[in-house]
Amino acid sequence: MEKPTNIPRLGYRALPVVLFEGKQYFADLRLNEFRPVQGLLESIPFDSEEGKVMCRNTGMVTCKSCGMSFLISMAYEEEPLRCMRCFNLLKPLSSE
Ligand SMILES: [Zn+2]
Repeated sequence: MEKPTNIPRLGYRALPVVLFEGKQYFADLRLNEFRPVQGLLESIPFDSEEGKVMCRNTGMVTCKSCGMSFLISMAYEEEPLRCMRCFNLLKPLSSE
């Protein structure tokens, strides 16, 4: 995957940017939604149909127990991962 070289900042914090179908999106881990870098008024919740597809494609997982979201490198897809807030086991992406 191509790494974004120019990560835009939204005021007081920087959001991770993911690439999906050639378009860049901010991954807002606090609001649990994607927002296109171009056109910030649009938002795609992680738990919407489109959001679920995007999560799978970009390595975003949400803890089923406490709702915290993580952006996980594809390199760790096969490894058991735990939520850093509640230590609940995060389901590997490949098993969904
Ligand atoms: Zn958790």
